[in-house]
Order: sequence, then structure tokens, then C-alpha cells
Amino acid sequence: MKTKQQQLDEIQARIVADKICLELAETSTNMVFGEGSPDAPLFFIGEAPGKQEDLTGRPFVGASGKFLEEMLNGIGFKREDVYITSILKYRPPDNRDPFPGEKKAFLPYLQAQLEVIQPKVVVTLGRHSMNCFLPGLQISKVHGEPQRIRVRTSDGQGEMTLVILPLFHPAAALYNGSMRQTLVDDFARIPAILKKINDER
Ligand code: URA
Repeated sequence: MKTKQQQLDEIQARIVADKICLELAETSTNMVFGEGSPDAPLFFIGEAPGKQEDLTGRPFVGASGKFLEEMLNGIGFKREDVYITSILKYRPPDNRDPFPGEKKAFLPYLQAQLEVIQPKVVVTLGRHSMNCFLPGLQISKVHGEPQRIRVRTSDGQGEMTLVILPLFHPAAALYNGSMRQTLVDDFARIPAILKKINDER
């Protein structure tokens, strides 16, 4: 029986073997696959690696990562307790927005990461990652409201339930006073959302 970490390592190797977004792979320094606890109750999804992430191969290590870590500490979690990744595993040149085709190409691998970790709550950061799961919803309307959805498993054989919590992206909120406060307030709801899910089981 493979450990969860071994299964995650295999997914990372498949991204290379399957030659996903080769043009991005060529312009970036490192793949940023994701990191954290394979048993994480919380799974955070950003958009795409930025400059610091590209240089280090680690997600959310720049200014928005520090803010994310601060908010995690504020609700009693350490960075190592959760899992952090982005839709795209390579940095887009000049930090441009991910193209729809790039998001689509990486989605099955993100889905595979979710199937291994089976988090209690999937926290999407920003509209790009929210729209991967909740197309058509507007983040300004639904931020902070957990949404329960059913998705097909990557083998196409079954379905799984995900609780998605859409939040603003910390990079967008960092220098915008009111959005920043909204993000901090939404973040503060996470322990109660987790407790409710745990109580249901
Ligand atoms: N923004 C993201 O969406 N992901 C990162 O890893 C860093 C910044």
C-alpha cells in the first residue's frame, strides 16, 4: 500500500511525464507542485506560482504567502498542518493571468491531489480557483459561504463530495483595506465550518 506522500509524488511525476504545459515548463525555473500535510483538513488553492514560488519551488512564499500564514496562525493552524497548492504548477511569464486551456490542463492533477488528501474543506483563493469548481458564481457574492458540491473522480468511475470555501486571494486583499478585513473575517469562520463538518460525521 502506497503512502499518501508516495501517491502525491507520483502525481507530480505524471505532470512531467504527460508533458503538461511544456511552454510554461520551459519559461519557469521550478515546478511548484504543492506542500503540506498529506492528512490536511484544509486544502488551499491559489492561481499560479509567482516569482518567489518559481525560484524556490514552494507555494505561497512571497508577500501573499506571509499574509496567508499570518491568517492561518490566527485560527490556530501552522502552515505544516494544511496543504497549499495552486491550479497552475508553473509560473506564467510576467505573472499574466492563467489561460483557460492552462487551467483545464492542470485540473485533473489538482483533482488527483484532492482525492489523495481528502480534505474536510477546500479553500479556493481568488476567482480563478473558485471557478474551477463553481463556474458562473461571483466571488464578491459568495465569498465566505461554504458550498457543497459533487465532482466526478479522476478515474471517471465515481463521485466525491467537496466542501468549497471561496475566499478572496490574499494578493488582491493585501493592499486593499476593506477586502483585507473581509478576507480576515471570512478566514475566522473556518474553525466553525470545520467543527460543523466534524459534528456531522
Ligand atoms: N499566488 C498563488 O496563487 N499561488 C502561489 O503559490 C503564490 C501566489
